[in-house]
Amino acid sequence: MSVIPDKLPFVGTTIFTTMSALATETGAINLGQGFPDFSMSPVLTDLVCQAMRDQHNQYAPMAGWLPLREAIAEKIDFLYGARVNPATEITITPGGTYAIYTALTCLLQPGDEVIVFEPAYDSYIPNIVVNGAKPVLIPLTDQFRIPWQQVTAAITERTRAIIINSPHNPTGTILHDDDIAALQQLIQDHPLYIISDEVYEHLVFDQQPHRSILAHPVLRARAFVCFSFGKTYHCTGWKIGYAVAPPALSSLFRKLHQFNCFSCHTPVQVALATYLQHREAYLELGKTMQAKRDYFLSLLQNSRFDFLHSGGSYFICARYHRIHDGNDAAFAEWLTRQHGVATIPLSAFYQQKTDSKLIRFCFAKADSTLELAAKKLCAV
Ligand code: GLN
Repeated sequence: MSVIPDKLPFVGTTIFTTMSALATETGAINLGQGFPDFSMSPVLTDLVCQAMRDQHNQYAPMAGWLPLREAIAEKIDFLYGARVNPATEITITPGGTYAIYTALTCLLQPGDEVIVFEPAYDSYIPNIVVNGAKPVLIPLTDQFRIPWQQVTAAITERTRAIIINSPHNPTGTILHDDDIAALQQLIQDHPLYIISDEVYEHLVFDQQPHRSILAHPVLRARAFVCFSFGKTYHCTGWKIGYAVAPPALSSLFRKLHQFNCFSCHTPVQVALATYLQHREAYLELGKTMQAKRDYFLSLLQNSRFDFLHSGGSYFICARYHRIHDGNDAAFAEWLTRQHGVATIPLSAFYQQKTDSKLIRFCFAKADSTLELAAKKLCAV
């Protein structure tokens, strides 16, 4: 038998899996992988049980349960003032990561180029490479903003797409009005598509709005915008999300989706269609998570970590130079083993594993978890 060539020779097991396994092995508090450790709404779990009892247990339509797509369209209109057709522009997916992968797979031909900003969520580059395309890596600025002049300079006739992520994983930065204006200019000047990862759309802090690509007709016309119910309703293990794209792009997307996942978990979709009517559940999320960010920071104000600003997401990054002079991966391992707190080293978000001397904390945790972790971290 010949050896099967590895399509992703430059990657191993994801850092989230690795750090969660290390946390389990060592009994450390897991502030690494991004997931809440508090309970989700019992109203929503009851709705899923009810949907099962009501015999919603067979395949949902390929593009998703229509009342759910209708409820999403209503939400998008309410939040972003965009009229999206639920029949032709919304596809329910098994999570945001799948939506991003499918969008890239329908856009890319071998040799195409995709602009990616680093640090980048760890699935983007493998998703591009597996399609025979090339990631064109542009470092974010010191403040983790997009250097738009560099973007323009990086465009070639092979550039097919640009990946945008706000709120940003891992840094917690958000897009501002000038970023949206720069992206609009770029799209007008070049025939590019946008993949917009907006899975943390409701986790925006400090009274800032979430600047969705969907709010801008020029951008929306060229975009796949990807969302996650797991992040919104504290159920990351449900693996359910959706992609919004114009009809022609959604139709390409569904061609792939029908031969991959085909359709998503029916009872969960039926339940979400009802639960989406409870607007307060997502409207209050930013405030709740901001309070967690602030509580975590207050507990750590006398620690030797230096925190960067987080304007959104589950995450906040910190420098550890006053504690350790090793690289970030070594530091994260040391912190887990010696002090019982697991985090994510930012080098995992760079293709070359660039040592950023930064680690990422997930603060989407019960106050008691944050207190326990902070006690250990203050002793470092
Ligand atoms: N999105 C989550 C994070 O950034 C992890 C998801 C995963 O483990 N693949 O922590």
